[in-house]
Amino acid sequence: MGSVKVQNLVKKYDKATALKGVDLDIKEGEFYALLGPSGCGKTTTMRCIAGFEKPTSGEILIGDKVVNNVPANRRNCGMVFQSYALFPHYNVFENVAYSLNIRDLYSGSMGQRAKTFARLMSRRLSKPTKEIQRKVHDALEYVELGHLAERGVNELSGGQQQRVALARALVMEPSVLLMDEPLSNLDKKLRNTMRTTIRRIQQDLKITTIFVTHDQEEAMSMADHVAVMRDGEIVQMATPTELYSSPKDPFVADFVGSSNIYEGQVMETNAQGNPIVKITDNIHLVSDTRTDKKDVKVLVRPEGIEILRKGSTVKSENVVEAKVKISTYLGPTIRYDLELEGMDVMVEEEFQPNTTLYAEGDTVSVHLPMERVVLI
Ligand code: ADP
Ligand code: MG
Repeated sequence: MGSVKVQNLVKKYDKATALKGVDLDIKEGEFYALLGPSGCGKTTTMRCIAGFEKPTSGEILIGDKVVNNVPANRRNCGMVFQSYALFPHYNVFENVAYSLNIRDLYSGSMGQRAKTFARLMSRRLSKPTKEIQRKVHDALEYVELGHLAERGVNELSGGQQQRVALARALVMEPSVLLMDEPLSNLDKKLRNTMRTTIRRIQQDLKITTIFVTHDQEEAMSMADHVAVMRDGEIVQMATPTELYSSPKDPFVADFVGSSNIYEGQVMETNAQGNPIVKITDNIHLVSDTRTDKKDVKVLVRPEGIEILRKGSTVKSENVVEAKVKISTYLGPTIRYDLELEGMDVMVEEEFQPNTTLYAEGDTVSVHLPMERVVLI
């Protein structure tokens, strides 16, 4: 059983409290991303789950079993780190085989363990058994490195080294795969390819996976669920789409995409029961979010705003005039930084060759559809 449960996990160091009560509930076979800025406690959480770090308090369950007192090598977690942590004097095959040998070190009789230890201490590994050969071969095939088994790891690119690290974790057939910023050292293009590879393997093997990243795009594009962390706590746990459309607070909203966020007051509701929010004296917007609060944050995603072209009209109260401050061509999209009664509004439109483009100083009509005006 590969489910992972973390209950009220606290980790205090001498000077810092890294985790202030983290809860996670990850079902077997799920791909979970742990997303948050540097220093928020992601690595500490992973190290506690893997067993490299002893929690100050709280419980960790893998399957149905509390593992707080189970040593790391018996938790059956595969780990992949940002730094690949490969052995430079071993080739690809040996690097992957190594983790199987390491596991042998913790099992078997005293005599067998002593032998394994001696073998590991010698510079080269002894001839692997048929079973080890098969397992290593399978793991390398998974990461598409079967053809490079004999290659020294120093002769590999960063992306290939990361694949070796992944194969080394997979060869153990772990019940949980823990990855701590595994793609951070790769360039953008390679990162995208590796995302696809990792996701494919995860779905093939249906292996419970926790993937740490500070990159929202990575988290949102790969994971079934995302837990957003801040200052040693989980702020929100949701699917990527929920997180994007209904962030719990401005921190999450901002962390999972660019956003326009304003202070607002709910003044009244319209005939349909939708709240009308005052943002400035002259700007009142209707929102689709039902709320009991009076003081709210108003979130509008840049791609949720529409610039109305000449001749097009919409039936909506949420149409306002704005001035173009900057227009930025981004390739597939174009971004407009607008000014709306002293407030900045960012709009992102799909770029199509035949649409009217606007320049600095133009006045435009913008429509903020009420379902895109999110109150939090
Ligand atoms: P992240 O991985 O999200 O960047 P970490 O889990 O590495 O964050 O760190 C969380 C907090 O705990 C930080 O403030 C960090 O300085 C502190 N911390 C982490 N490890 C140690 C340690 N071994 N000793 C003291 N403080 C630590
Ligand atoms: Mg970290």
